[in-house]
Amino acid sequence: MFKIKQAERLEKLPPYLFKEIDRMKAEVQAKGVDIIDLGVGDPDRPTPPHIIDRLQKAALDPANHQYPSYTGMNDFRRSVAAWYERRFGVKLDALNEVVTLIGSKEGIAHIPLAFIDPGDVALVPEPAYPVYHIGTLFAGGQSFFMPLLEANGFLPDLDAVPAGTAAKARLLFVNYPNNPTGATAGLDFYEKVVAFARKHEIIVVSDAAYSEVSLGGYEAPSILQVPGAMDVAVEVHSLSKTYNMTGWRIGWAAGRAEVVDGLGRIKSNIDSGAFQAVQWAGIEAIDGDQTCVADMRALYQERMNVLVEGLKEAGLEPKSPRATFYLWVRVPAGQTSAGFTARLLGEGGIVCTPGNGFGPSGEGYVRFALCQEVDRLREAVERIKALKF
Ligand SMILES: *Cc1c(COP(=O)(O)O)cnc(C)c1O
Repeated sequence: MFKIKQAERLEKLPPYLFKEIDRMKAEVQAKGVDIIDLGVGDPDRPTPPHIIDRLQKAALDPANHQYPSYTGMNDFRRSVAAWYERRFGVKLDALNEVVTLIGSKEGIAHIPLAFIDPGDVALVPEPAYPVYHIGTLFAGGQSFFMPLLEANGFLPDLDAVPAGTAAKARLLFVNYPNNPTGATAGLDFYEKVVAFARKHEIIVVSDAAYSEVSLGGYEAPSILQVPGAMDVAVEVHSLSKTYNMTGWRIGWAAGRAEVVDGLGRIKSNIDSGAFQAVQWAGIEAIDGDQTCVADMRALYQERMNVLVEGLKEAGLEPKSPRATFYLWVRVPAGQTSAGFTARLLGEGGIVCTPGNGFGPSGEGYVRFALCQEVDRLREAVERIKALKF
């Protein structure tokens, strides 16, 4: 048998974020410890029943058994456009400015293939969701990392991007409400982003996966609300977090028509679109009763309160975010992200994610995901209090 050589793009991949944690978790589990997993951000509650009903009906209809259109069903894209108008007062041309995605991750990973040539630069925040960098890498591009620092409210400092780098940049990724920091951005920030992108002729990809996962009455804006944003931006969006639909693989990109079209042309050569029955379920999610969204927000708010109060009692200094189901917390003085994570797991049976796994500026933090029931969070808090640091 010959030796398999992997492509350089695989060799260049950073180590899988959860690999070391998975290894330690297995070790602790083998000892019979009851593990509380606050690591992965995947909603634990089921998809609301009316959405599942719609999928069941649509799955029975033979019209949905064939190849879908790679740009997405017109009905789905019209629902998305109507949602933008209701939610943000933004008018979109459903058929030219919206494309259905097989989850927003798919769109984020494919966008660089449409707009990055080897040697081109993408401006990528860190700490961040890893796909902005990896999509850029797979397209042969280079990421210029913009640190997200607490002192700047975890917003990138665009003025710190060197002029030569801005000139070579084709894409700029932003993500608010933010994973992993829980930070939010106002319209004033998006105005700066749009002005910067217009000046340097850069496409903005705004990842709004958590725009509806808001706490305490907060309402996240859309970059598309900024005048002129439609000239430079696409927003990628997802039903995954809003409606507990991570496994369904459905989302969209909306914004400047040529960008949506470029992404669609990549998709037409790689995938063949999202299963129509899933798109019908998506339409039900977007157009249907939104009580489930209010319930989701109340659920995470309750969990957030339990964890924030508990961690304060344990001597940490957590700050409640205004959105997302993540709590981003500084580790105790003198400890590292990896060291603290290892201690929580080894001595407390609690899984969290070390902040440096999302990028070097995440060092000194850990991320807790609130995808466990309140009684488990209370148990986690008791165990953390017992650690004494
Ligand atoms: C969860 C998540 C997504 C992707 O979700 P999909 O299920 O692919 O739609 C995108 N961006 C961020 C920041 C996320 O945390």
